[in-house]
Amino acid sequence: MKVLYRVAARQVLLFVLLFLAGVSLQVAAASIGHEAQNRLAEIEREAAESVYTRPEKAIELSNEAQSLAKELDNQEVLTSALLTAGLAHMRLGNALESRDYLEQSRELARRIGSLKGEGDAENHLGTVYFEQSQFDRALQHYVKALEIRRAIEDKVGMSKSINNMGRVHHKLGNYDKAIELFREALLLKPENDQSGRVNTLNNLGLVYRAKGDIPSAMAVFQEALQLAESIQSVQGIAYSMLSLGETYKLTGQLTLAESYTLNALAHYESIQYTHGVAYTLFRAGVIYAEQGESAKALDYYDRSELTAEQIKQKGLRRDIAWEKAKIFEASLDLPQALSYLHKYISLQESILNSDLHQKILILQNQHELEGKAKEIELLHKDVTLKNAQLKIQWLLLAVVATFLAASIVFAMFLYRQNKWRKNKEKELLSATVSLETANQRLSQLADTDFLTRVANRRRFNKEFVAACRQVAKEKNALAVIIMDIDFFKEYNDHYGHLQGDECLVQVAAVLQDTFLNEECLLARYGGEEFVVLIRGDCSQAFQYAEKARLYIEELNLPHLRSAFGRVTCSFGLACFVQHGMPQELLAQADKALYEAKRSGRNKVVQFGFGSGE
Ligand code: GH3
Ligand code: MG
Ligand code: MG
Repeated sequence: MKVLYRVAARQVLLFVLLFLAGVSLQVAAASIGHEAQNRLAEIEREAAESVYTRPEKAIELSNEAQSLAKELDNQEVLTSALLTAGLAHMRLGNALESRDYLEQSRELARRIGSLKGEGDAENHLGTVYFEQSQFDRALQHYVKALEIRRAIEDKVGMSKSINNMGRVHHKLGNYDKAIELFREALLLKPENDQSGRVNTLNNLGLVYRAKGDIPSAMAVFQEALQLAESIQSVQGIAYSMLSLGETYKLTGQLTLAESYTLNALAHYESIQYTHGVAYTLFRAGVIYAEQGESAKALDYYDRSELTAEQIKQKGLRRDIAWEKAKIFEASLDLPQALSYLHKYISLQESILNSDLHQKILILQNQHELEGKAKEIELLHKDVTLKNAQLKIQWLLLAVVATFLAASIVFAMFLYRQNKWRKNKEKELLSATVSLETANQRLSQLADTDFLTRVANRRRFNKEFVAACRQVAKEKNALAVIIMDIDFFKEYNDHYGHLQGDECLVQVAAVLQDTFLNEECLLARYGGEEFVVLIRGDCSQAFQYAEKARLYIEELNLPHLRSAFGRVTCSFGLACFVQHGMPQELLAQADKALYEAKRSGRNKVVQFGFGSGE
């Protein structure tokens, strides 16, 4: 019993240990997975943060985040990594790449049902088109983004979309509509989105300024600046100051303009926002030029140009070239002015070309897509056709196979049938042959005398009737010889019946030898009598009969009770030539035989008649 308990306890311990090992493994795996997910989120956050300041770095980090997200199957992060790549490309002016990434992000967001992601992608797609001056399309995307964000009550997102729509209307010259939209956006902005408020306020100020309402513009820019300072948004401060500087320049307050602009520059430089730095340097140059400080202006332009080159801002470089040309023209340095005008023209050309190039690329892309769609359609048709062909081929194959199988079965059936028929034919043939032989044998037996093996009386009668008919038709000659052994009763009596039979056999053999030719038929007529039918010429009949008589005599069969001391034979011969009845021949021959007996035996008597001569 104790042993049993011990075994059970060990089993339980083992089970507990295994369970613990399993749990710890799962915990380890989960923590590894958790770590990787954390790392992914970190990379993506870093990428998103570098979008405005270091777009190339942002693309690199986004790529890393994308592959890690795919590995970890984290669709949410993949969606935002694609969005980040789209934004970074937009920053670098790569409209096509940007659009591609943003569309990918939007599709993925749609698939995983992330309305937030879909709305973000739509919104940024609008901005891609906005920067390409395709305002209609930009507006479509912004409206779509607004709808999505409204559905999920994303107020921050909604106000951003409305703000963007305002920017479009500003560009289209619909200033009142733009103001209305910016105001709406400001109302929607929640308390925690103050940097968004700064941005929208600046946009609103720009519309007022464009509209010529300088006081409103000033008020709004000031509000934006205060707000930016209160939330310590360096970018917001810089943007607001730049806007104020511009406005002061417009009103001719150049010192204020210079001070705000340089302040904006310092802020941008502090956060290394290169775009802002480049643009602000340029604006400072313009202010110095306005102040007549050409050298300073040129210095700022040069610095601006260097920065613009770094971030590939051709538009800015073009504007700088124009402003420089103006300075050199004013100082009558015409060759320099001319060279900057050339630069201006070539940059403008290149921008137009690259715009054109972009448009061509877009067109090509569309064209390619249409081509692809057609190709796919064709492929689809091809596949359907191939499938149909395949089905037909299978059907044909099935039909052919069935036909072949049926043919083989039928051929086998025919072969067997043929074999069976041939066998039967063979059997039938051999049966027929044996039947014929049997028949022949039978008719032979029926026509033959069993003792002497010569023809019997039945055979003789048939032949005699036929011969009589033939003779009647052809008027031929016909002869009959009837023979009878002399004193045969005595022979039997003396030598016994068996010896008598033997005697009959020997006499028949002699007769057979004598009448062995085609015209003669020898038959046993009955008892110890024989008959010979001779067709054709009967002139030899007598000699035949005489020869037979002699041969029997020469056989020399002893017959003690005969007058001749040996077996002898008497012959009656009747010959028919013409006229008269052939049937009477037998009677005539019989009469002749009777005459031969009567006149002493062992002789031939001819009973001639009907010679007609
Ligand atoms: P004849 O000289 O006048 O002809 O006298 P015969 O004795 O020969 O004539 P008969 O008609 O009186 O006798 C014929 C005998 O022949 C009678 C019969 O026993 C014998 N005979 C008939 N057929 C056979 C046979 O098949 N075998 C034997 N052994 N004898 C036969
Ligand atoms: Mg007789
Ligand atoms: Mg006799």
